[in-house]
Amino acid sequence: MTGSPGSAALRVLSLADGVRTLRGVGPARAALLERLGVTTIGDLLRLLPRRYDDRRALTTIAALGAGESGSFIARVAAAGAQATHRRWRVFRAVFADDTGSIEALWFRFHAAHLQALARPGARLLVHGTVSSAAGRRGLVHPELEPLGEGGERVEAAIRPVYPATEGISQATLRTLVRRALEETLPGIEESLPRDLRDRLGLPGLAESLAGVHRPADEASLEMLQAGVTPWHRRLLFDELLSLQLRLAVRRQRYEAARPRHFRRPRQELLQRLRARLPFALTAAQERVCREILEDLGGPRPMQRLLQGDVGSGKTVVAALAVLAAVSGGGQAALLVPTELLAEQHHLTLGRLAGALGVEAELLTGTASREHRARVLAGLASGRTRFVIGTHALFQEGVRFDRLALAVIDEQHRFGVRQRLRLREKGEAPDLLVMTATPIPRTLALALCGDLDLSLIDELPPGRRPVATRVVGEADRRGAWELVRGELGRGKRVYVVCPRAEEGADQEGLAAARAAQRLRAYFRGVGVGLVHGRMPLEERSRSMELFRSGETPLLVATTVVEVGLDVPEATVMLIERAERFGLSQLHQLRGRVGRGPDPAHCLLFTGARPSPEALERLAVLERTTDGFAVAQADLELRGPGLLAGTRQSGLAGLRFDDLAREPLLVSAARDAARGIVAADPDFDLPEHARLREMAGVAVAAQGCAAAPADPPCGAPRR
Ligand code: ADP
Ligand code: MG
Repeated sequence: MTGSPGSAALRVLSLADGVRTLRGVGPARAALLERLGVTTIGDLLRLLPRRYDDRRALTTIAALGAGESGSFIARVAAAGAQATHRRWRVFRAVFADDTGSIEALWFRFHAAHLQALARPGARLLVHGTVSSAAGRRGLVHPELEPLGEGGERVEAAIRPVYPATEGISQATLRTLVRRALEETLPGIEESLPRDLRDRLGLPGLAESLAGVHRPADEASLEMLQAGVTPWHRRLLFDELLSLQLRLAVRRQRYEAARPRHFRRPRQELLQRLRARLPFALTAAQERVCREILEDLGGPRPMQRLLQGDVGSGKTVVAALAVLAAVSGGGQAALLVPTELLAEQHHLTLGRLAGALGVEAELLTGTASREHRARVLAGLASGRTRFVIGTHALFQEGVRFDRLALAVIDEQHRFGVRQRLRLREKGEAPDLLVMTATPIPRTLALALCGDLDLSLIDELPPGRRPVATRVVGEADRRGAWELVRGELGRGKRVYVVCPRAEEGADQEGLAAARAAQRLRAYFRGVGVGLVHGRMPLEERSRSMELFRSGETPLLVATTVVEVGLDVPEATVMLIERAERFGLSQLHQLRGRVGRGPDPAHCLLFTGARPSPEALERLAVLERTTDGFAVAQADLELRGPGLLAGTRQSGLAGLRFDDLAREPLLVSAARDAARGIVAADPDFDLPEHARLREMAGVAVAAQGCAAAPADPPCGAPRR
């Protein structure tokens, strides 16, 4: 905290002080404010107004038409709380001016507060919207403002309206913000270095805070009402920079932990791999392969996120990266979220690598003791060059001789912590993180700013969009006939059931029952079953039979959600689809349409799906573009629901702010990387404030000091 000379009479507070230091905030209010994410004065001042009311133009009661909003000065003719026939209590007041009178109602109200304000005879400034229910004009929950003795208004006429929280009125919030401004403004220190501010054309911190909360004149108000102002951009930039600094510090520490055993990849092996592929890489695949190979040949460890929609062909890119790393003399690990996917990758990638003389091992949680011991020995000695596995790869006792590359598939299923545990193992391998859950680019930049981004933005040629249909009770028969038709043509069909409601230990029960029913319904058709509780061998056998076509109908739980690749599958039928999140459904849908045949996704609903559920599912009917799905999911559910954004420092950011300011997002990332590269410990005086923004105990070492994890993933339910 800094005192400002000459203001001794004024208590100067700092932005870092708790809200409790403000007059008028006791424990109860502090708790309410915390619900808005406000614990410090700085937080309070970063609570941006949602809009501004301009109450300078006064109207009269008679002039206010139905549906119109406005402010007028009136006398309270009558007021009081009443019980209604439905045992509700309402507060009623009648306001009158020279032109007429109007009734106002409050449903959930703070009686003492209203009673004090709306005393009969009091003169008030009333602001509200006229409704005309049942032909009667009235105001519901108007805002009241006391007028001074002489009738002059107490507060400014242009007033910010804040995001509301139950228990704190707008008037209280306004008062607290005003107080916070008064007590901090004289001492606020600029946090951004001058050159950065000049480069981006951002106004100062004090100016920006005052600007958004206290529009001084007509021009400011117009700017504020039109949307994003330079002040908003400045405050948004602060939040983005704070997050990016954390990420940049993390990135830098990763780089610093780089072991020195790197050799350039051998091109010849990569050529041989390409020659074995039954297809040519798409232009997008070629581009990202180049980006990855460049990283692998560079002096710093790769930290790269590969984004690509379901079915865009990320696996083969991973294969190239793995062979490149192995050919350079290191070991490679491919980490996947489910055993099923590990087994599949082991089957396909393993075969591909094996043909080039690189044996792949499989390590999952259910591996036998002997198998595990053998794999661990191979990894520790360096004899095993390529391992594919699940979380089991993170366990104690897993040691690598020289881990050069870690590929994490379906990254959104893992936490950042897990990613960092690779470093704890004393390694900082090249890192390739893949995700099929597409989050919009600006959001990816914001959340995964420590990673470089590569994007596969096209699908392999010849794909047709998966025809997606929401199927209500009445249309089920037709849908099952479609399934029969596909089975008749030798295709494969997935039927996915949500978890039985009884609980986790019942996983697979609903699926098992469905399998039984379907065996009876499609007599003569092989019906398989797969779920997470099955023993390993049984599960692999199920998948094998499905792949080979012996049981072309596979009933499954969501274990099939990610990664599986059976190109002959043409139908994905999902029971109780309304129980799944959009992105999850999109992933499931991605299991079909991987070959040249037209494919279908049938979203079965329960008996009476809610209109909201139907609206959500309709998004999938409209688009097969994963980015559009993710966007819609964000809009329907809000970015606040993005897992972990709360801790990431992004909680206060609205997705549309980010979307509107993509350049600011990348500017924040670039600035953070530049600052951390030039001054990793924030020693320069102009970086003193940034150290706080990075929220890092710079002296501390290792993961404990790693800042909170922003997840690199899309919304999950
Ligand atoms: P995802 O990105 O979802 O992991 P996959 O890597 O599983 O996608 O690839 C989906 C399917 O597309 C696989 O059957 C794969 O063999 C095939 N594929 C990948 N790249 C190409 C390509 N360039 N041309 C044709 N098919 C491809
Ligand atoms: Mg995949």
